[in-house]
Amino acid sequence: MDSDRTMHAAVLHAPGDLRYEAVPVPSIGRGEVLIKVAACGICASDVPRVRTVGMYTMPMIPGHEFAGEIVERGDDAPGPATGDPVAVFPLIPCRRCRYCGQGAYEVCDAYDYLGSRSDGAYAEFVKAPAWNTIAVPDGVRLQDAALTELAAVALHAVRRADIAEGDTVAVLGAGPIGLLAAQWAQARGAGQVLVVDIVPEKLDMAAGLGFERCVNARTADPVAAVLDATDDMGADLVIEAAGVPETVRQSVQMAGTLGHVVIMGNPSADVELPKELVSSILRKQLTIKGTWNSTFAPDPPSDWHTALEGMRDGTIDVGSLITHRFPLARVHDAFDMLAARRETVGRAVLLPHTDATEDAP
Ligand SMILES: [Zn+2]
Ligand SMILES: [Zn+2]
Repeated sequence: MDSDRTMHAAVLHAPGDLRYEAVPVPSIGRGEVLIKVAACGICASDVPRVRTVGMYTMPMIPGHEFAGEIVERGDDAPGPATGDPVAVFPLIPCRRCRYCGQGAYEVCDAYDYLGSRSDGAYAEFVKAPAWNTIAVPDGVRLQDAALTELAAVALHAVRRADIAEGDTVAVLGAGPIGLLAAQWAQARGAGQVLVVDIVPEKLDMAAGLGFERCVNARTADPVAAVLDATDDMGADLVIEAAGVPETVRQSVQMAGTLGHVVIMGNPSADVELPKELVSSILRKQLTIKGTWNSTFAPDPPSDWHTALEGMRDGTIDVGSLITHRFPLARVHDAFDMLAARRETVGRAVLLPHTDATEDAP
């Protein structure tokens, strides 16, 4: 592609100053590919990033949840071919630190990141190392594949604890990643999955995905609901996907003896644990783990491979989580809508190569 070609992109010039404008199409180097962006999700983290916090350097193009088609390949670019549909792992690992040496790229301590530290995919085209691309299987829509990261992050959390057949799993927080974690838990043998939130629309979405035990923590005590569902035994696995102090405490309270708690939600405030609660961690011999990002490697079974396979074979339903679609030219409308909401329900995606607006019901 000629270096003097231009494309449309949403470029962040300063916090609160996102401009839809013409910029040069990225020129690729050795080992890189150019991707025609089919869809890019607006992550919950993008809202403060664009409106108040800004990016590592500016001007820069946000957008890290995306999929598209490879249209150009640099020299020595491994992996999928020109014309192939791909999802893209947005974290570019250093490959020199000790964690990269173990293949644990998700905890690399010197990474680059598309859409926060380098240009992302609120654009018609984005460049990425070929290593970061993964082929999208036949039958998976690119809009859904754009949300592979969410599915992989949710799977990573569930994989942090072994689920045994028939286990009771509670998921606190019914945002897109929480709902994907609930789906993975179900698929991996959970006997019952309870989904807890305080936003009725999110619980409706959970019910629409087939979860029968949805608890509104505003009107019912979620700890009591879990104990009630388990003959007072407590949950075998609790996934904390809300990131508020109350849900961290509830996670410990509702976990059963020898249970696991996986903390996924980034905390919104300091968490205070009363003495009795800490004592119960001891007495119940709880395993409390953190989860961060997702695993990616060129070969299966990384979280990314399993996530895309799960979309292909119907193990997980990602498409139902997409609630709004905007052409990239209407990126400001998308952000206005998200900022006006108190809570993020589902995902909005930007479509850089379409003029039509479909606001899904
Ligand atoms: Zn994200
Ligand atoms: Zn590293």
